[in-house]
Amino acid sequence: MTNKIDLRSDTVTKPTEEMRKAMYGAEVGDDVYGEDPTVLRLEELAATTLGKEAALFVTSGTQGNQVGIATHVSTGEEVITEAQAHIFYYEAAAISVFNGAQVRQIPTDNGIMTPEQIRRAIRPKDVHQPRTALVAVENTHNRAGGTVWPLAALEGVRAVADNAGIPLHMDGARVFNAAVALGVPVREVVKHVDTVSVCLSKGLCAPVGSVLAGPRDFIERARQWRKRMGGGMRQAGVIAAPGIIALTKMVERLAEDHENARLLAEKLAQMDGVDVNLDKVETNIVIADIANTGLSVSDFLGRLAERNVLATSFGETLVRFVTHHDVSRQDVETAVDAVHHVVSGARVH
Ligand SMILES: *Cc1c(COP(=O)(O)O)cnc(C)c1O
Repeated sequence: MTNKIDLRSDTVTKPTEEMRKAMYGAEVGDDVYGEDPTVLRLEELAATTLGKEAALFVTSGTQGNQVGIATHVSTGEEVITEAQAHIFYYEAAAISVFNGAQVRQIPTDNGIMTPEQIRRAIRPKDVHQPRTALVAVENTHNRAGGTVWPLAALEGVRAVADNAGIPLHMDGARVFNAAVALGVPVREVVKHVDTVSVCLSKGLCAPVGSVLAGPRDFIERARQWRKRMGGGMRQAGVIAAPGIIALTKMVERLAEDHENARLLAEKLAQMDGVDVNLDKVETNIVIADIANTGLSVSDFLGRLAERNVLATSFGETLVRFVTHHDVSRQDVETAVDAVHHVVSGARVH
């Protein structure tokens, strides 16, 4: 069987050997009773690493965001997000389903909202208008191509939110990629937000799970929302154990994924018909516009798959490639050759 080079997402990463052994040996208890020592250890470690008072182990990034939002927001209120934020774009309208709340979308080119955009979107006190209950930022920003929030921009947004007395949540599914790209500890990246949701199961390679971190009383209330949404798990130590390894051993190596993404982006950008905005390639995501290859996205992806390289559709003419632990530099070079074949083949016809 030929191994496929799977660049669809960093969610496809498999747990490492060390993670599998840690799962086997994990000490467990009933976490809904608060008695799973491994889950408690993961939550403590996540809180310390993120510089927050407490953390909650949740089933997925979506659950981390939505438990967080439900704890912040009530019926009839409004949440400000960037127009292509995962929370709004990819979470099956959970904000309206769970909270009866709506989203105010802020369009941007790169996923980074300005403090001024947010200031203008915050509702005045007025009987006609919903109350703005939350501002949510996404770091790194997935649909913008893994872009990183500059620390000064977060500080600016914090000042606007404080001025209006509105809490700030970060969808930090890939916030460790942001920290590594900036060369700062992750707590520096999240210090301006009240709450943050972080995926253990993407570039950090844990098989499942995310953590939601924030103030202790907030996390206690969030614990009930997690239960309500069906996320109260029992002997969850078996899946928390690899999460501990994710946080302690898998962060620094994200730099390799970023180097591989940069290499891929530069090679793709040189090909006729393929357009890549290299300025937006800051972490492990590369978005290529293939409009000028003459191929549709589905034809392009189909032909690439025949050469054992997988990527994903990201819009009418856009394809997303994501580098990760299970893709080596050699794999990237092989993938580049495959794209070259597909693209030059297309142009001959
Ligand atoms: C992957 C992702 C999530 C969460 O996804 P799950 O599949 O639910 O774990 C949230 N936000 C962003 C930006 C993501 O990329």
